[in-house]
Amino acid sequence: MYGLDTDAARSASSQGADRNGAGPMLDVTGLDTGYGPVRILEGVSLSVAPGTVVALVGANGAGKTTLLRALSGLISPTAGRIVVDGQDLTNARPNTIVNAGLVHVAEGRRLFRSQTVGENLDLGFYGLKLARTEERARLHEVLAFFPVLSDKLQAQAGALSGGQQQMLAIAQVLVRRPKLLLLDEPSLGLAPVIVDQVFDVLKRLVGNGTTILLVEQMVDRALEIADRAYVIQNGRIVGSGTAAELKNSDTIRNAYLGKADAHGLALPPSSSHTRKMP
Ligand code: ATP
Repeated sequence: MYGLDTDAARSASSQGADRNGAGPMLDVTGLDTGYGPVRILEGVSLSVAPGTVVALVGANGAGKTTLLRALSGLISPTAGRIVVDGQDLTNARPNTIVNAGLVHVAEGRRLFRSQTVGENLDLGFYGLKLARTEERARLHEVLAFFPVLSDKLQAQAGALSGGQQQMLAIAQVLVRRPKLLLLDEPSLGLAPVIVDQVFDVLKRLVGNGTTILLVEQMVDRALEIADRAYVIQNGRIVGSGTAAELKNSDTIRNAYLGKADAHGLALPPSSSHTRKMP
């Protein structure tokens, strides 16, 4: 039996507090959004505690990227609330959201391919107006996580391997010292051995205190590093729990196979879409 959470907002929020009782780094409640008249997300509530990795998993077209776009201010919510580290950013513009510490590494490694690795990293500082010494200190700090990039600062970004480009895309935003990193499909198009390397970097970042919301198709890989996960299907959160609870769960299988209504898992009526794991 799956316990039905009748107050999605309260549930998500309580899961986002850290062990010391600090508030969530990200708290999303009752979010609706879409493209023009087409509603994609309905009543999405989730929470990410500071210093943790939360995975958002679900099949193609479930709404994962749409949620990240809404969090980044690229599309506007039609209902609900987005709070980052206590700051209400529901209708904030993308630059305000980035400056508040939420950065998004989009799917597909969007780099300036004809520019060098070093130039791409410098672009990460855009708008920050830091002293050059501070920029150098931050670059040094970030490159410690990506030794492969230190050796290629003069190389064209477009000449890097797929895995190296993914690492550069992550490094570029880390120079901003984000409070919350949104990662969209970092494994996309990479060979398994390269995915290992990218996930090793993510593990080290988390060990260093970074907070991550990770969107991933590769559920097993995502659950390996996630503390908690949410399962999204047809724009609704249909399950959540610790990574251990969700591994091999029916909730995940059903979301990928499109069987939400099988096995007694019919969605609740009205606006309450979050289910707790048993
Ligand atoms: P994938 O892993 O395939 O990217 P996803 O879970 O990230 O899947 P989304 O990309 O968020 O899913 O797409 C959710 C729904 O929104 C899909 O039905 C998709 O066709 C639709 N969609 C995505 N982008 C747009 C857009 N720019 N305009 C209209 N509909 C869109």
